[in-house]
Amino acid sequence: MSHHIAIVGAGPSGFYAADGLLRGDPAVRIDLIDRLPTPFGLVRAGVAPDHQGTKAVTRQFDKLLAQPNVRFRGGIEVGRDISWEALQAAYDAVVVATGMVIDRRLGVPGEDSAHVWGSWRFVGWLNGHPDFRRGPDLSRVKRVAVIGNGNVAIDVARVLAKSADEMAKSDIVAEAGAAIVAAPVTEIEIIGRRGPEHASFTNNELAEMGRLARAVAVTDAAALDAAVPATDPTPERLRKTRNLEILKGFAGNAPGSKPITLRFCFHAPAETLRLEDYDLVVTCIGYGGADFPKADGVFPVGWAKRGPSGTIPTNRADSHAVAQHVLAWLKANTPKDGPPKDFVDPLPDAVDAAGWQRIDKAEVAAGAAEGRPRVKLTDWAALLKVAKG
Ligand code: NAP
Repeated sequence: MSHHIAIVGAGPSGFYAADGLLRGDPAVRIDLIDRLPTPFGLVRAGVAPDHQGTKAVTRQFDKLLAQPNVRFRGGIEVGRDISWEALQAAYDAVVVATGMVIDRRLGVPGEDSAHVWGSWRFVGWLNGHPDFRRGPDLSRVKRVAVIGNGNVAIDVARVLAKSADEMAKSDIVAEAGAAIVAAPVTEIEIIGRRGPEHASFTNNELAEMGRLARAVAVTDAAALDAAVPATDPTPERLRKTRNLEILKGFAGNAPGSKPITLRFCFHAPAETLRLEDYDLVVTCIGYGGADFPKADGVFPVGWAKRGPSGTIPTNRADSHAVAQHVLAWLKANTPKDGPPKDFVDPLPDAVDAAGWQRIDKAEVAAGAAEGRPRVKLTDWAALLKVAKG
């Protein structure tokens, strides 16, 4: 009898774990469980809506969903609809690919004000996550602070700065897209607590900020006279050196030469900022994860294992390595040479792959009418209704 494995979380690391398990043992049976009725986790809800090229990775995941040994079980929250204990008892192994689920806190006064948003909520709103249907009121927002020097900060600042034309081929939710374009934003500060030589922006993402139609990227040249840490590994040194070159290009730009000035500010820890000086603050300073049992036979993967770092491709190698480990553990602990046990499905009613395909089809059809990749369903009830056909 083949092994039966539950993967909790149908984001990139969950799919890559399924891929790794099937490559190592094509007979393995996998239930890919997700809290949402839709698969793809951060690819759907986290990757910026204008970066459709990055979202194209879902085509690989679709192929996995079509495999006979893989079942999608959406709309099931482990801990609410089924306990971790029941899951552990029913499956030979449990892979935890739940990623990160909450915004890290800044820990400064004023961060609970209505105009301060964590990027988890903010990006969830842009991306039509059904838990985050209400966004900030942007109708009087002129000055924005985006706190953090990673790619999430870049995503947030870029989407706020882009024109309607630049967002036309995105799948941003209509309400968010309209609110951003109508907002009277003139200044967006991207604020790092350390110097530019420590920023974790990747080169392409940073360079894109210099090519925006209605925003000019600027920075203070004085902050750029910095040395990349010599102890960093070579790829990091190359990335940071290139970042400094790109920023030097921005330092020559004239603030105010386009409707929005996108200002990179460094050496400004949150304690030194006055959050009330801004009309909107978006903190992009990392995420926290959800709890899961640390037990034999339970294998965390992706962000649930490593914390919120690394791009989608990073998760492929990581998940494949964990999959090898799971298979080796199964071989040693549940060799399955006895009589086959009858598997009793422990999961409650769920959205299956066909249900997700109905959602996908409806969204893509609605998008086609507007020349967009899709128009997302953002309401829990509507998602479940369409999934059920
Ligand atoms: P990140 O790259 O780790 O950046 C987090 C930033 O928050 C850092 O600049 C960090 O500064 C800062 N920070 C943390 N605590 C802070 C505090 N209390 N006050 C002020 N600043 C604080 O993480 P991320 O931007 O959330 O991205 C998460 C992962 O997703 C990254 O691996 C990223 O590359 C990936 N991602 C990729 C893309 C893409 O490829 N296009 C897009 C989005 C996200 P310190 O360095 O000083 O700690």
